[in-house]
Amino acid sequence: MGAMCWDANPGCFVKGQKRGETPCPAYNENKGCWQVDWSFIITSLPDDERARWKKIMKEQCPACPVYAEHKDELAMTIHMVLAL
Ligand code: SF4
Repeated sequence: MGAMCWDANPGCFVKGQKRGETPCPAYNENKGCWQVDWSFIITSLPDDERARWKKIMKEQCPACPVYAEHKDELAMTIHMVLAL
């Protein structure tokens, strides 16, 4: 399967933190970012948080090394999230 995102992404801002207590739902669930239902997560957020996450996913995810490894899943996920 390859490395999980927190190992593959040198810019992971939650790596090493305690699971369940970070701002990243994927890390908290011990899942790679391509294995998480981001549409459900983003839809559940208040408007300002939703906008913040959409901006992050639009601007930062495509430049992440994990995106290159899981491009099909992540491109589709980001496309769906930005349409929410
Ligand atoms: S999705 Fe979360 S755990 Fe994965 S690299 Fe990004 S911040 Fe780190």
